[in-house]
Order: sequence, then structure tokens, then C-alpha cells
Amino acid sequence: MEETLLVVNCGSSSLKLALFDGQQRKLASALAERLNQSDAFARIEGDKQAIHLGPDASHERALEVLVAALRERNLMASDPTAIGHRVVHGGETFREAALIDDDVLSAIDECAGLAPLHNPVNLAGIRATLEQFPGVPQAAVFDTAFHQTLPEHAYLYAVPGKWYREWGVRRYGFHGTSHSFMATEAARILDRPPEQTSIISAHLGNGCSITAIRDGCSVDTSMGLTPLEGLAMGTRSGDVDPGLFDFLRSKGIEAEEVHRSLNQQSGLLGLSEKTNDMRTLCESADQGHAPSRTAIEVFCFRLARYVGAMMASLDRLDALVFTGGIGENSARVRERTIAHLQLLGFHLDANRNDSHGKSSSGHIESANSRFPVLVIPTNEELVIAREASRLASARNKT
Ligand code: AMP
Repeated sequence: MEETLLVVNCGSSSLKLALFDGQQRKLASALAERLNQSDAFARIEGDKQAIHLGPDASHERALEVLVAALRERNLMASDPTAIGHRVVHGGETFREAALIDDDVLSAIDECAGLAPLHNPVNLAGIRATLEQFPGVPQAAVFDTAFHQTLPEHAYLYAVPGKWYREWGVRRYGFHGTSHSFMATEAARILDRPPEQTSIISAHLGNGCSITAIRDGCSVDTSMGLTPLEGLAMGTRSGDVDPGLFDFLRSKGIEAEEVHRSLNQQSGLLGLSEKTNDMRTLCESADQGHAPSRTAIEVFCFRLARYVGAMMASLDRLDALVFTGGIGENSARVRERTIAHLQLLGFHLDANRNDSHGKSSSGHIESANSRFPVLVIPTNEELVIAREASRLASARNKT
């Protein structure tokens, strides 16, 4: 039977599906949005027409409708041979992807306290898929797993030890699937063995994080206990002084509201007071909107600071890598960031930088740069498909 791999990514109000063949080429993708709201809808990629799911449609219903639609269009002739699920938090339990069974389901549930907005919906997606495809091997691929190689000095916060021992307060890191893909792809482009390749990987999308990868292993990363820490992002603040909570309480703003504002009204949106979208922000900066220009400058400066911080975890640097919607597409962000890093010896070639867009990987450093700088389009779905395929064939061999 021809191998096909289904990737399932459940967000709080969305469900994304991607179907790959045995050569890991994408065959189809589909998306459901606004789930559990009055106007939930779904769409198969390439279709003009959206499918209305009816009011308050759940993840289960969206999956059922999308699978039926894929079958109707002959895009999924038979059940997939393996299924991979994105799961946000694997805590300290999961150092790598895992084949789903009852124990794995319970362990994901136990990690839900660390990601209350994400793990329960990830679980809902897994349960719906188990029902839809009984007997098909399914794998959970964790955003946190790649970072389980962080040394203690990088994952411990300087807070009372009891917080870690009793409640697991530590740095976990996220975007692990994307950063691990960067490690593999950078090694391929540089023609080096992955286990002897050290990079700094900057994943810049709506969420942003940066990771130091030493000889193929994550050794430091900017996101922490939650995906709020680190770089400035679309709507998230990244690092702030924790004293902010007490200060704002004195102004009558309670912790819950500060938390919401730091997650939803900060970052590029908060600084520009206009948009969280980097493309729109660049256009509005070009039209003279000063806060948009400031937002871009803060974003790039803080990113550059973190590149410097990540150097502390490496004994060699084979490349600095940009990825994610912003990292892959915004020559301006790359240029403004590298401009802060001249003392460390980073220099860009303006033509190479300008010519890199989506779907093309390559070098953008100039001849006098001390380190290579790469742009690499990320492909988290492909990593999840590969992991599902690997675990399913390992199971079939035993
Ligand atoms: P992601 O979450 O990876 O899809 O990335 C979303 C971010 O990428 C948004 O801020 C977009 O504005 C940004 N982005 C996408 N295309 C471009 C572009 N051509 N120039 C600048 N930013 C872009």
C-alpha cells in the first residue's frame, strides 16, 4: 500500500490538516477556523468555496467534514498509513516524539497545567482522530521536546528552588519542531554532519523565538515556562521586568489584565498601536508612521541582543539562520538586525538579502562576514509527518 501521512494541528479555535505521500511531498491541505463560534467554516486548499460547519462546530465535527471532503475530491483515497499530531507541551516527560497510546494520552493530559490553552485542544484533536481512524498508528510531536537537551544552567530560573521541584517552573522552550528542522536543513546546506553543526536559529513568525543549537542539540532558547518570554513578537511582549506586575497593580490593573495585555496587546501591535503584522508595519513605516518605524527598530534590536546572548552557549558558530513568516520574507528585518551585530563580525550582502523570499533557502552574508547567515523556509508539518512515519515503521518492525 502507498504510504500517506496525515498531519493534524489543533489550535484553540482552528484545525489544520496536511497530507503527504511516502516521498514526503504535500498532497493536500485543509483548514477549519472559528471553531466553537457561531460562524465556523472550513476550506480545502485550492477550493474557492468555504464549507460552513454550522454554529459552534467542534474540532471533532471539523475533522469529520474535512476528511469527508478530502475523500470526495479523491485527495485521500484510503486511510493514512500514519498520523502525526502537533502537541504544544510535553513537559519534562517527552524528550522526543511518541507513538500515542493510553499512557501517552495521560501524560499529555498531565502536562495540560503547563499549557492550559493548548494541550486540551491538542488532546481533543487526537481523540477525534483516533475515533475517525482506529488502528492507524498516531504520533504526538511536541513543541518542547527538542529543548529537553538544555543544560540545567540554561533551563533553571534564579527563583526559589521549590518552584521548580514542586511545580516544574523552568524554561521549556517552544517552536522545537521548527528549530530542529533548521538544524537539519542548515547542516545539509553547509554540507556538514548534523551532529557536528552549531547554529543560532531565529524563528520569526507571529510568535518568535531564538535557539542556540550546539552539535545538533538545543542548548539555550528564548521562550521559557510559557511562549511569552524572550523576543518581541506580533502581540506578545517578550521579556519585561517582572516588577511591572506590582507597579501596574498600584495603578489599579490586576495581574490577569496585565497578563492578557502582555499576550494580546503588546509586541509589534502594542508599540505601533496599529498592527501585529510585519508586512503592514513596513508599509506604514514607509509612509512615515513613526510608531511603526519604532516597533520595527525595537523588534530588530531585541533580536540582535538575543543573538549575542545565544553566543554564550556555543563554542563555534556555523550559521545564523532566519526563518518564519518574518525571517523568511523581511529583508528589512534581517538587515536592521545584522546592523546591530557588526562588532561580532556579522555582515550581509544587500543583493543576496533582497533576493531571498519564501521557498528559497540560501546564504545572505557578504564575503567579509565572520559567520554564514542563512534564510531557510520552515516546514513544521513535514517534520511532524517524518516523525509519524519513523515511529510507525519502527512499530511495524517490532
Ligand atoms: P507566520 O506566523 O510564520 O505565518 O508569520 C507571520 C508574520 O510574517 C506576519 O507578521 C507577517 O506580516 C509576516 N510576513 C509575511 N510575509 C511578509 C513579507 N513579505 N514581509 C514582511 N513580513 C511578512
